[in-house]
Amino acid sequence: MSDDRSTHAGGSAPAIDGWFTVPEPNSGTGPQLIGSRCPDCGTYAFPPRDGACPNPHCDSDSLNRVPLSATGTLWSFAENHYAPPPPYPAADPFEPYALAAVELADEGMVILGKAAAGVRAADLAVGMHMELGLDVLYTDDDGVDRLVWVWAPSGSDAADGGNS
Ligand SMILES: [Zn+2]
Repeated sequence: MSDDRSTHAGGSAPAIDGWFTVPEPNSGTGPQLIGSRCPDCGTYAFPPRDGACPNPHCDSDSLNRVPLSATGTLWSFAENHYAPPPPYPAADPFEPYALAAVELADEGMVILGKAAAGVRAADLAVGMHMELGLDVLYTDDDGVDRLVWVWAPSGSDAADGGNS
């Protein structure tokens, strides 16, 4: 309770520590998810974790934190028309939002996330190229924007027919 400052106007911070990077505004780099990778067999895990390798055929008892691909292919998606139950913060009035499951370009695992603001299910198609971004999940009591990762269609791939 030592926060007696009146300078709590704005700023941003991750809603969840350690799951993704938040680049400086002018760094020219985008955000990346942070996963765990087994140094022995190369198995990835997200969210990041410590301890033994999740691969049952691997004896490694340590995992390394590694940045994950910021791009991937849309594997599945849905649209949520209902406000999430507490403790998840919901906009009031509630606005429907799309959820995207994206298969990461290099790791091949599927990461679920909200679609970027303004992207609705009608804008999405399985097989689209997607790109990681950040969006404000909620603003906390100190006025800090709490960020979460989001998926957005990248480039002009939306016009692609999706043929393999
Ligand atoms: Zn392993």
